[in-house]
Amino acid sequence: MSSPKHDLFIAGQWVSGASYQPNVNPSNHEDVLGYYAQADLPLVETAVAAAHQVFESWSVSGIQQRSDALAFIGAELIARQFELGTLLAREEGKTRKEAIAEVVRAGQIFQFFAGECLRMTGDILPSVRPGVSVEISREAVGVVGVITPWNFPIAIPAWKIAPALAYGNCVVFKPADVAPGSAWALAEIISRSGIPAGVFNLVMGSGRVVGECMVNHPHISAMTFTGSTGTGMQIAQKSAAQLKKVQLEMGGKNPQVVLDDADLQQAVELSVNSAFFSTGQRCTATSRFIVTEGIHDRYVAAMKERMAQLRVGDALADDTDIGPVASRSQLEQDLSYVQIGRDEGATLAIGGTLLERGAPGNYLAPALFTETHNQMRINREEIFGPVATVIRVKDYEEALAVANDTQFGLSAGIATTSLIYASHFKRHSQAGMVMVNVATAGVDYHVPFGGRKASSYGPREQGSYAKEFYTVVKTSYTYA
Ligand code: NAP
Repeated sequence: MSSPKHDLFIAGQWVSGASYQPNVNPSNHEDVLGYYAQADLPLVETAVAAAHQVFESWSVSGIQQRSDALAFIGAELIARQFELGTLLAREEGKTRKEAIAEVVRAGQIFQFFAGECLRMTGDILPSVRPGVSVEISREAVGVVGVITPWNFPIAIPAWKIAPALAYGNCVVFKPADVAPGSAWALAEIISRSGIPAGVFNLVMGSGRVVGECMVNHPHISAMTFTGSTGTGMQIAQKSAAQLKKVQLEMGGKNPQVVLDDADLQQAVELSVNSAFFSTGQRCTATSRFIVTEGIHDRYVAAMKERMAQLRVGDALADDTDIGPVASRSQLEQDLSYVQIGRDEGATLAIGGTLLERGAPGNYLAPALFTETHNQMRINREEIFGPVATVIRVKDYEEALAVANDTQFGLSAGIATTSLIYASHFKRHSQAGMVMVNVATAGVDYHVPFGGRKASSYGPREQGSYAKEFYTVVKTSYTYA
């Protein structure tokens, strides 16, 4: 298979990188998808300058042009879902079925914003001064810096780039180094969407070089970031020093409460889905199962039985349920937490071992620890892999307290047939997204997305709520 070079997209041109880096298939390290350009500081400067220069005209351009461009991008993503889903599975390791769903979702997001930009509403208020009227409108922020992680390499870029363009901003986009192929494919589609040169720029490269340059650049007015909490906090501090707008989506340690009255089979299915599908590499993945005494033993037995059926293998094989871990460094992190759990005295009920699958890949058997308590590191720190724990609790009240006892607050679930507990949990969970008999992972593309505490900072992503971040409010007074 050929391994072509993939360039940067700056000021409407495909531009050579300062160097190139291989993109390796985590299902088979001998499979190199291609070589992806790395930007250096002068290339980032050129991209920001191009975006800055065209912003004024683009931000007031005809809204039909933006809507048409977004609709074109959305339609092409959906039409090419199999091809792009295959690329995504090959570079990131989620199964082809999951990868195709991600590509379709990216397409739906662009289609949503193709319509949404036509609905940018304002307000008219009476003034306290006679003869004066007050108009409240929204305008684009400026050049938006987009920095994304590797785990949703096309959907997360889509849910940032689509609203940024829809509301008239220019974009400088840095995808994660681990999975640049899907981002490059998205950029290639955007390059043919009819938007003017400089409005959208792709600058692949490392966070330390390209990312930091973007964060520190005075001509970038807003930073939207998804990634780890540690990196997010650095970006927040640097952005604050320059009074940049900032939106951060970060880590999680998402709880799934299972109460005695839950439908056991349903609870097990949604638990397995939440914790282990996409190889557990979802910010909304469940990592802590908080289970009341009356159902605990039956739940653990049913989980072990179901997990034993999961087929771990090549992301492109049709019978694979769980693909490989996305990168060697993530695999090492997962294995180190398996060891930490053992050292902390938790019981490794199943999984946690490396698997041989013919080709050299990052294959890890999904792991479940039992007999854990919430102060253990495996229950406090984000692992971001197919490693989950069970915490035994006495009753609902203790379950709620344990669920909330975390620095994170992204997604939280409860499995129960009790309306009373479900309503109480919805009200008292300290998470941004609450799921009742629904997996903690897996969200709609048109509704607000985000968390609380160390999981999120700034306005919500997705849907109409996205305009809070991608626009600024202007208040105009007219005496006429
Ligand atoms: P990460 O290491 O924080 O990296 C995220 C992005 O930031 C990458 O593009 C990275 O570049 C870049 N970066 C790294 N250091 C930087 C710096 N000093 N300045 C500017 N940019 C920098 O996170 P990851 O390992 O890719 O992703 C996993 C994390 O993302 C997990 O914590 C997960 O929970 C979180 N996540 C959150 C959500 C959510 O919506 N809440 C969704 C998905 C994932 P390079 O890696 O290319 O160097």
